[in-house]
Amino acid sequence: MLDFLAQTLAGKVPTQTAGKNTHLRWQWWDEGIWALTPHQSVEKTLVLSAGIHGNETAPVEILAQLVDSLLAGELALQWRLLVVLGNPEALRSNQRYQHSDMNRMFGGGWQQFPESIETQRACRLEHALDLFLAQSEETICWHLDMHTAIRSSYHPRFGVLPSRTTPYDEAFLSWLGCAGLQALVFHQSPGGTFTHFSSEHFNALSCTLELGKAQPFGENDLSQFEQTKQALQALLSGETPPAAEGEPLRYKVAQQITRLSDDFVLHMSAKTQNFTAFPKDTLLAEDGDTRYVVKEDIEYVLFPNPHVAVGLRAGLMLREL
Ligand SMILES: [Zn+2]
Repeated sequence: MLDFLAQTLAGKVPTQTAGKNTHLRWQWWDEGIWALTPHQSVEKTLVLSAGIHGNETAPVEILAQLVDSLLAGELALQWRLLVVLGNPEALRSNQRYQHSDMNRMFGGGWQQFPESIETQRACRLEHALDLFLAQSEETICWHLDMHTAIRSSYHPRFGVLPSRTTPYDEAFLSWLGCAGLQALVFHQSPGGTFTHFSSEHFNALSCTLELGKAQPFGENDLSQFEQTKQALQALLSGETPPAAEGEPLRYKVAQQITRLSDDFVLHMSAKTQNFTAFPKDTLLAEDGDTRYVVKEDIEYVLFPNPHVAVGLRAGLMLREL
């Protein structure tokens, strides 16, 4: 029996690198990269990824269960599908990353970082998407990149969507609600994330899904993610997803807090949750002469992290739409 996760964590080339069952053909492309193609012709392409950060294991377990069902022929497939475990080396050591944060490197950004496992892997993943998506004649292309957040959150499950020049398809946004997301955050400027890369280069409808809080393998309460898993299962096999509990709240990025130097101070406690509200004029962070202050009536913080490398994002401030 094929085991996608164990195979990837073993770090060896599988003895069998291609095969088929009643629904699909599959091919192992590289460590943690598998292409699955249904026998019937389809008009949709999907990239499903997890483990870009190696300590974010719940979505890796969900993805592994889905892929194992597909490989075992238990689940029908209505998309051309590329599945990706982002950073196998970091997954093995249960670290967010080995050297540098890979989800800041996409879109060629890896060329600006010192060479490491992550720069090599980001380049490899870009190439895999190039191969898989450039040849696609399908009209619909989605990319769902699954993560968990470092902090607790007022919305335990939420999506972060890259900026794009054309509006998002409402059917895509409504599926995200059916997948259990309680909030959607719209970026207003480009970034180095995997989803920004797929959106910009292949016009994919892309979303970074943040599904709860990071825990080690085996310690995840997967029942929290049941709705997301069911929605993915329905998506793959072309069925109607479970009903959304409510419309996800929508936010847009109002400003970014960037760590500019070693003098950077973030005026938030280590326990500040994602989506905590701050009133107008609150001093959020200082860095030498630079002061980050709330400009709107209320702004909500996302991903506050004072421990990032100089030049990187130490937090985002959001405005509700
Ligand atoms: Zn992550």
